[in-house]
Amino acid sequence: MIATLEPCPVWFGGEWRHVNSVPTTPVHNPSTGEVIAEAPLCTAAHVNEAVEAAAAAFPAWMETPAVERARVLFKFKTLLEENFEDLARCTTREHGKTLVESRGDVKRGIEMVEFACGVPSLLMGESLENLARGIDCDTIRQPLGVCAGITPFNFPCMVPLWMYPVAIACGNTFVLKPSEKVPLTSVKVAKLFEQAGLPKGVLNLVHGGREVVDALLTHPRVKAISFVGSTPVARHIYETGTKHGKRVQANGGAKNFVLVMPDADVDHSVRGVMEAAFGCAGERCMAGSTAVVIGGAEKSVLPTLVEATRRIKVGPTDRDPQPDMGAVITRQHRDRVLHLIETGVKEGARIPADGRGVKVSEAPNGFYVGATILDHVQPVMTVAREEVFGPVLNVMHMEDLDAAIEMANRSPYGNGASIFTRSGKAAREFKHRIRCGMVGINIGVPASMAWFPFNGWNDSFFGDLHMQGREGVQFFTHQKVTMSRWFSFGEGDVWHREPQK
Ligand code: NAD
Repeated sequence: MIATLEPCPVWFGGEWRHVNSVPTTPVHNPSTGEVIAEAPLCTAAHVNEAVEAAAAAFPAWMETPAVERARVLFKFKTLLEENFEDLARCTTREHGKTLVESRGDVKRGIEMVEFACGVPSLLMGESLENLARGIDCDTIRQPLGVCAGITPFNFPCMVPLWMYPVAIACGNTFVLKPSEKVPLTSVKVAKLFEQAGLPKGVLNLVHGGREVVDALLTHPRVKAISFVGSTPVARHIYETGTKHGKRVQANGGAKNFVLVMPDADVDHSVRGVMEAAFGCAGERCMAGSTAVVIGGAEKSVLPTLVEATRRIKVGPTDRDPQPDMGAVITRQHRDRVLHLIETGVKEGARIPADGRGVKVSEAPNGFYVGATILDHVQPVMTVAREEVFGPVLNVMHMEDLDAAIEMANRSPYGNGASIFTRSGKAAREFKHRIRCGMVGINIGVPASMAWFPFNGWNDSFFGDLHMQGREGVQFFTHQKVTMSRWFSFGEGDVWHREPQK
């Protein structure tokens, strides 16, 4: 029996439409390998329609008072909460992560809307009376115009919500291009925003791949681009977008280290390392893909870690009972991850937990890789240099904290790094010297939340102002400074007396 495909419409100027005239790309349920939808590969002409619709909606939306814009966001937040489980199930179906993980994805997204609801306060400027005699000065923030967002496959709900709620709350209009691998959650979320009373054209949705992205990057009416994805594409987005005069914030890929000191609590650190390495099947830019065991930690931590990893149950997430870990996004991606594991072994790593031969009898066509540990990984090995983005934990052995920090600081990336220790001194040293933007102390995934910037450094971020928190508001607004001086009360101002000399 062939399953009916789910619709994947575009949304331009308030009109939902099916684009039939272009090639499509399949959207899979990774748990089963089935095709569940076909995403249209839209063209530059479609992008132009979406951008023109956003440009037409901008003047009225910009003039809508911030408190009224916030009211639409409050309604949107309520609708997201009412549809929480449906959104989580949709995320699981097109992404493959477990329902618990999808609920986390949706929850983090809703928190961004919650943050954006505070926009009247977030947009407030500063003022100073008598900056010079009789001269007052103030700052205000104004929207940029049409902004665009391009998102990756790994957080179908949260990552798009990092971008457009804040942009729209600030008075901009927006064009979103979600990942063509997971477009369905974005369609559902946009429909809820429409239901919340968002005026036509304020948010627009276009599907596709490179052609759509390049059309957004070069469109003269697009003022700012938010991007999240892999480092090579993030670099391309930043270089092309800025060359065309746009503001760009582009989050890239990462390799994150989790250091385990000899004094660390074994249970807490094993749980922290496993959650960081195998949560969302390792498909996270904050995945702790390398555990660095320091001093004697290998003796206490490694046997428990290997044992627990071998017990991870992999399986379909679109039904009950839920497994510990789901499939990876596509068949090609599974083959790439398996190839990288092989390469690691060929280059000399040991493999105490081997997920290569995993069999899932209830879903034989799903895209599964079992949880894998590569031990004694050296920094020169391919698995140490490339972002694997799968359930593969590298283990490195270091003599002391200094050696571990120096090694970690040689990475070209800089999203996150964590330490497990009971020593305040070691934690303080690590926090001070590690060269990355998000630091965890006895926390395996120090991904910051809506109110703080998502703070990548180095090749994990291109731009100046990060997503989330106040930096997000700054990114989506111009600041204007006004100096004012008044010489007289003006004619007819009979009710004022000139000051006595
Ligand atoms: P990707 O770079 O392949 O795709 C991201 C987006 O860019 C998609 O919308 C895609 O259609 C588009 N795209 C792909 N190739 C393109 C090209 N050549 N030109 C123009 N556009 C192109 O990333 P992905 O595989 O969807 O997501 C995984 C990556 O995202 C990982 O590297 C992960 O670390 C990263 N990521 C980073 C963060 C962060 O905040 N730093 C968060 C989530 C994911």
